[in-house]
Amino acid sequence: STATLKAVDLAHHLHPFTDHQELRGDGGARVIASGKGCYLTDTEGARLLDGMGGLWCVNIGYGRPELAEVAARQMQELPYYNSFFKTTMPATVQLAEDLAALTPEGLNRAFFSNSGSEANDTNIRIARMYWQKQGQPDRTVIVSRNLAYHGSTIAAASLTGLASMHDIPGIPIPDIVHAPAPFWWANGGDMSPEEFGLQAARGLEETILAVGPERVAAFIGEPVQGAGGVIVPPSTYWPEVQRICRKYGILLIVDEVICGFGRTGRWFGSQTFDIAPDIMTVAKGMSSGYLPISASIVHDRVAEVVFDGPGRFPHGYTYSGHPVAAAVARENIAIMKREGVVERVGGDIGPYFQERLATLLDHELVGEVRGVSLMAAVELTRDKKGRSAVEPLGGLATPVRNACFENGLTTRAVRDCLVFSPPLVISRAEVDELVSILRRSLDQQLK
Ligand code: PLP
Repeated sequence: STATLKAVDLAHHLHPFTDHQELRGDGGARVIASGKGCYLTDTEGARLLDGMGGLWCVNIGYGRPELAEVAARQMQELPYYNSFFKTTMPATVQLAEDLAALTPEGLNRAFFSNSGSEANDTNIRIARMYWQKQGQPDRTVIVSRNLAYHGSTIAAASLTGLASMHDIPGIPIPDIVHAPAPFWWANGGDMSPEEFGLQAARGLEETILAVGPERVAAFIGEPVQGAGGVIVPPSTYWPEVQRICRKYGILLIVDEVICGFGRTGRWFGSQTFDIAPDIMTVAKGMSSGYLPISASIVHDRVAEVVFDGPGRFPHGYTYSGHPVAAAVARENIAIMKREGVVERVGGDIGPYFQERLATLLDHELVGEVRGVSLMAAVELTRDKKGRSAVEPLGGLATPVRNACFENGLTTRAVRDCLVFSPPLVISRAEVDELVSILRRSLDQQLK
């Protein structure tokens, strides 16, 4: 029964990123039993519109039988093997080829991992080995940004620029530094977003100069910072960041774990923001979350140095290039192509989503609605003009998130904002429903 599941969950299951005392106070977790399209159903039969697409990942929606069939077929044929010892698997090879064809020019070589965190750990090692092989072994520093999220392993948590992720001793590890985030709403003051974008990029250059450019291996950034609060950079930001990376010869790692596979209306955020990565991290939407798989997609000019010379790259995971996950990712990509999912996001449903969310700007608790296509944040405030933070932080967003959950919508509270990342297959009617539940949940805070 649901009650038993909740009790056993509390007794035996440790949840990621969860205050267990609070969970116990709530009477336990809501038990999600099934999913179809954009909806989840719990064990008591209540339906939830999934405004978060799981954790920014269920791009083609829940319950696609094609993916289950492909997984079953691959499991029967070859459930597992690895590519450590001069062996490979058809599905893995074909996925690497699919990715080379899909990604921007020059990004032709894929190193597989299981999660975004592991792929970013891999990227750090690729970037450092790149410089080591070129006789610059001291070039080890990775510059990340405040409010970045790059994962939860010790290295990826170190790259992450969210203070709470550094609460555990030992993080960040040495040689990881953080530059300012291009977060105009919170930090832009009287500047225009364009001026502020240039200032944030200048902050990156100052960080590089403080470390010493000859020590910096790479800069890592999400095209749009997701878990940090869907921070859409001003249009001036990325061109300037790329100019700075080129000026100092610093590798550019673009973390597309959220933005990749259609979220921003193109296949990759790098295309939406005209970024030319040396290494691209992909995960989540690559398999629509049906199975864990990620990749570091490496530009030819980096791969030639790290992988094509003598010697080996001493790194890999038991499940790197797992054939079942690879087969599922291939089918997911094939479905997205067949159904024109990305074109619809960029040309129709993405703009519609942003337009409908923007209607909430008339609400007295809504300060800003920002986003690109199907990723968005609704910034809550009690001070629309002054753009000051809510006291205590999250004091509005958390109750609104909880109200949405009660009213049948999943969203996530990040500081003062609510973030959204629905399945890319969301319909106009479902977008309308999402906005209407959100408005109702906001209204409930006025009483
Ligand atoms: N990078 C970004 C941009 C992410 O949003 C996430 C997860 O949310 C990660 C990396 C880490 O991915 P994972 O949770 O699969 O390790």
